Amino acid sequence: MLVRRLPDPVPPAQHEVAASYIGRLATLHGLDINDLWVQVTQREQSGGMRRVIVPERLAALTGRTIHALAGALPELRDPEPNWAMFRHQPQTGCHRCDSKHPGGKVTRLLPHHRYVCLRHRTWIGPPDVNQPAADLSEIPAIVHSQRRHLRILSRRGWAATYDAVLTAFSFCGHIWDTPNPPEDRRHVWHTWDARARALIPDDDESTAFRAYSTSKLFAAVYPEAIDLAVLIAAPYWRQRANGTLIEQFQFLDEVSRRVSYPYTDKPEFGDAIAHWAIADSWRPPSAPTNTYSPARLRGLLPSLHATQARRHEQSALWFSRKRKAGSPLLRHLHVRPVVDRAWAPDYERTEGAIWHSKRTDQQFLDQIAREIMKQTRRTPSDPASPTDRSSPHTTSGLS
Ligand SMILES: [Zn+2]
Repeated sequence: MLVRRLPDPVPPAQHEVAASYIGRLATLHGLDINDLWVQVTQREQSGGMRRVIVPERLAALTGRTIHALAGALPELRDPEPNWAMFRHQPQTGCHRCDSKHPGGKVTRLLPHHRYVCLRHRTWIGPPDVNQPAADLSEIPAIVHSQRRHLRILSRRGWAATYDAVLTAFSFCGHIWDTPNPPEDRRHVWHTWDARARALIPDDDESTAFRAYSTSKLFAAVYPEAIDLAVLIAAPYWRQRANGTLIEQFQFLDEVSRRVSYPYTDKPEFGDAIAHWAIADSWRPPSAPTNTYSPARLRGLLPSLHATQARRHEQSALWFSRKRKAGSPLLRHLHVRPVVDRAWAPDYERTEGAIWHSKRTDQQFLDQIAREIMKQTRRTPSDPASPTDRSSPHTTSGLS
């Protein structure tokens, strides 16, 4: 197929998905997006109806080298990138970065560790409802945490960092999920509430409704989530979390230095941090549930899914009235891989998975002990067996 070079081919944005770039090129030149898409793609090798980009054709169309294009567009890289290192869902990025890229909305496929645009101090966050990125100039702690996040990445690798940050987000969701504001003003709940008020103003219900996105609640807890992720990603602390009673105390003590812990005075509600120490800390990091596929039917990117839009509206309404934040965090798909771990029982509803993720009751302890025995052939009298591990924070009885 002969591809003619476009008269004014603008460059792609960093991490842009190919369909977004082709859409912008078509808009700028008054062309039909799907015609242009067919010109620069071919049917996927498996013989399906979906199409993948042919780098040579896109290079001919834009007059840019394949090398330069592949630097920006992950889908053009050869060999293919490890898609597990990227989010499976493309999203909008920093609107201030995007303003230099004409031709319409820029949609990017970001790696798991990108939450903040450091240049413009904006919160990009997990894929949500594609609102413009939130300004962080009032909350420098969040910007700084992105740098700390990158340091964990370079030390521990992407898989351990991914698991640690999501696990930490889920801990924050559990801590924030209290029926009433804690009386103790030093409780981390108040820090998060103050940040959430800066990001989602509480002048009145309608302002809060319009400004709401669950992504901003992730921003509010991000600094403490990174504090916890440092521990969760460290082999030393994982080993302590899963060690003798004294070692466990050391781990929980370290946790309490970083966030409010124990976070509830009602242990019957469970304890997600103790649950993690017992059930998850000794297992390999949880992997993403979905991975991105570079092949698609059409060049037009789908807009927000109706159920996703409905879920967002419900959360926005709920938050604007009650300002309760733990529950939307725990229910967001972003943390699903660690709330509903591969080895946890299958629950039909999210509530079941969330309930399980904080269990520390005797029945649960026994079940974990059996699993560990199966794996290591330890006897129950071994001091490292979890039945002996009831600490003051894990003696709750859901049984
Ligand atoms: Zn930016």
